Amino acid sequence: MVCKQCIENPVMKLPNSEVSMCKSCFCKHFEKKVFKTIAKYKLIQDGDHVGVAVSGGKDSTAVLYLINKFAKKHPSVKVTGLAVDEGIKGYRDESLNSLKKFCEKEKIELHIVSYKEAFGEELDEIVKRFPRPCSICGVFRRNLLNTGAKKLKCDKLATGHNLDDEAQSILMNQFRSNMKVSARLGPITGVLKNKAFIPRIKPLYFLSEKEVASYAFLKGFVEKYNECPHGSKSYRGEVRDFLYEFEGKFPGTKQNLIVSFLEILPLLKANPAYKGSLNECMECGEPCSQEKCQSCQYVEKVIKKQ
Ligand code: SF4
Ligand code: ZN
Repeated sequence: MVCKQCIENPVMKLPNSEVSMCKSCFCKHFEKKVFKTIAKYKLIQDGDHVGVAVSGGKDSTAVLYLINKFAKKHPSVKVTGLAVDEGIKGYRDESLNSLKKFCEKEKIELHIVSYKEAFGEELDEIVKRFPRPCSICGVFRRNLLNTGAKKLKCDKLATGHNLDDEAQSILMNQFRSNMKVSARLGPITGVLKNKAFIPRIKPLYFLSEKEVASYAFLKGFVEKYNECPHGSKSYRGEVRDFLYEFEGKFPGTKQNLIVSFLEILPLLKANPAYKGSLNECMECGEPCSQEKCQSCQYVEKVIKKQ
């Protein structure tokens, strides 16, 4: 068997198809799909400053590389990497080291913000007192990415979310009857335009986790794969396993979930009930739905009260 496009040996079979491709053709196919998503959903406009939320993992490194490649062809577009250092020894320090090397090699500006500087403590310390590190970690990370992107004057913040991540989010929101959150999903996030929120863009939206992992591996982006020592089985993890099992039995399930969701997404975004209203946090000024944002509430409950 040879590659569908040329006569080289294939390295990868595309999902939901019998098409196999060699390294070079697969990488071209992957990049074409990403650039098509950027164009079709107008994820990046001329003159945009795009921040890329990057951790040193496969997905975000692939996005950083590809947006930088896009910017080389569109010189009015500026790209900056934005990383969060949670303070996880043996995990984040290692991934940030390989990220720094990557950014140096590709000549991409990188900014790193940390929990220690912003909130006064590293996650390794917080976990000693707080039993659910992923919940506080997710809230702190979202806060630092939004405030960091605003400080850098970014117009958009690109993330490494892929097709699997989005399929899980859609299903989780359905299971929890949380359509207001689903209304904010899609290749470009948000319902209301609000300067306080930097819109998130997802150039890997139509690529599966397996395709992204294969691309990152073939391009040699990730030196080694390691897992966060504080990660535990979450609701998302349960939904991920469920979807994998279902996809195994019924190939195309995840793809169909995304396609059908995109058909109803304009209706969700147009529904006034899902637009919500925004306050400014009385402590930090970040947008939130209560008096204080979740991040400031955690700082008060978990960090200051010890
Ligand atoms: Fe944070 Fe949990 Fe991710 Fe670890 S697994 S980085 S604790 S969200
Ligand atoms: Zn706040």
